[in-house]
Amino acid sequence: MSLPPPALFLDRDGTLIEDLHYQADPQKVRLLPGVREGLQQFHQQGWLFFLFSNQSGIRRGLCTLEAVEACNQKMLQTIGLGENLFARTCLALGTPEQPCEYRKPSPKFILECLGDYSLLPDRCWMIGDKETDVQSGCSAHIHTLLLTPIPCNTQAEACCANFFEVTALLLKNA
Ligand SMILES: [Mg+2]
Repeated sequence: MSLPPPALFLDRDGTLIEDLHYQADPQKVRLLPGVREGLQQFHQQGWLFFLFSNQSGIRRGLCTLEAVEACNQKMLQTIGLGENLFARTCLALGTPEQPCEYRKPSPKFILECLGDYSLLPDRCWMIGDKETDVQSGCSAHIHTLLLTPIPCNTQAEACCANFFEVTALLLKNA
């Protein structure tokens, strides 16, 4: 029997695109360095992608679900690997004051995907730019990687300064 595919659980803002805080304008969506090239390489090697984004701005009235989805569409167009790049997308709409069950650091979305797609935790990575991203991955017992310009105190197994480094690190070990 062949192994299930490896998978990336990806934060959006500050990980795949520039974090403009409650991003609502698709025209302002900018991929971060190395994301396009990196995802193309992972894709070629058969990795699955899951988008896992806290979007409390919707509940706070700072942006709309339609605007967030329009930004996701723009991001997908810019990546250029098709509109169905993500096997599943989780937009957690809770706020810190009123968290929803999926809001990071909750591992609920990751755990559901591990089950539904029969993934092996040891072949999955949570990648994000905040410690709450790392915590969601740790709680789901998958690998964790923090994107950070400078080394910092983190629970993450690995730190990278940009997505070029992510790709080099993970595909070297694949
Ligand atoms: Mg982020």
